[in-house]
Amino acid sequence: MLDVAIIGGGPAGLTAGLYAARAGLSCELFEGGFPGGQQATTNLVENYPGFPEGIGGPELSMAMQSQAERFGLRIRYDRVERVELQANPKRLFTVDGQVEARTVILCMGATPRPLGAPGEDRLRGRGVSYCATCDGAFYKGKDVAVVGGGDTAAEDALFLARIANSVTVIHRRDSFRAAKVLVRRMEEMKNIRFAYDTVVEEFLGQTALEGLRLKNLRSGQESRLPVAGVFVAVGNVPGSELVRGQVALDEGGYVLAGEDTRSSVPGVFAAGDIRKKPLRQIVCAVSDGAVAAGAAQQALL
Ligand SMILES: Cc1cc2nc3c(=O)[nH]c(=O)nc-3n(C[C@H](O)[C@H](O)[C@H](O)COP(=O)(O)OP(=O)(O)OC[C@H]3O[C@@H](n4cnc5c(N)ncnc54)[C@H](O)[C@@H]3O)c2cc1C
Repeated sequence: MLDVAIIGGGPAGLTAGLYAARAGLSCELFEGGFPGGQQATTNLVENYPGFPEGIGGPELSMAMQSQAERFGLRIRYDRVERVELQANPKRLFTVDGQVEARTVILCMGATPRPLGAPGEDRLRGRGVSYCATCDGAFYKGKDVAVVGGGDTAAEDALFLARIANSVTVIHRRDSFRAAKVLVRRMEEMKNIRFAYDTVVEEFLGQTALEGLRLKNLRSGQESRLPVAGVFVAVGNVPGSELVRGQVALDEGGYVLAGEDTRSSVPGVFAAGDIRKKPLRQIVCAVSDGAVAAGAAQQALL
């Protein structure tokens, strides 16, 4: 039986594994895709401390993986399909078999919700981004767009307005869902424009984003917006379906766990993007991973 089972091998899971294995706990990490999670899908990470010139996402992921393995973390490339978290010990059912563990750290992350318009997949990472905090700095002095009408879209627009030449906020409705104070701040910014009642019909460009084909839903009129970058902010999908009904989730599906990473179930912890929190970044995920490993260690005493 394992002391700790970790589900998900993104930065949160790999860090939880590093700390747990280094503390001498018997620990296995289950990863259904590839180690590094979302981090491995980004070309350049410029805001993770310790790399003044930035570091490639895949390179950082491989370094985190080999560091954890050096201390004895066992990584199993095996998707967890079902869990019994109320049981003691807890049970994990994977594609390859069944595992028992005294504690479980949930690190299944989240994935940005795509718009689903033509060209989006082709231009992902080539002008189409889902994270202004991550990629905004690449668009200094350029024209960009933000798609969405909630708090994240408004915060992204305000963040980008300090970097980019202009920001067009594209929203399918005629008013924002975002907090009034954020809307007012956007309206006060001279370089933020608004395209209400408008949707993105197509992402234009072959190897790099050149612009967007837009459609006004009221008039039906189509237009082209030349932009070098577009930030899609229409929500994230947390990877919590596996534990729905077993641990408490918020209305968006994020695991309700505080800064101590303890979920509603004793012995079950949540780290990284899957946890309800204000900022989803690598530096936050690794921090959570370390805290969760410490909390699991305490629970085993
Ligand atoms: C394109 C892009 C660029 C980004 N750029 C930056 C940046 O520059 N700086 C920054 O700080 N942040 C950046 N981020 C955000 C950052 O990558 C995330 O905050 C971070 O990866 C979250 O880590 P995590 O470990 O919580 O989850 P994730 O990275 O989402 O990893 C979750 C892992 O769990 C696995 N998993 C899920 N369900 C199961 C299951 N049932 N069984 C087994 N495995 C499972 C998944 O395969 C995945 O590998 C970026 C994100 C994206 C998408």
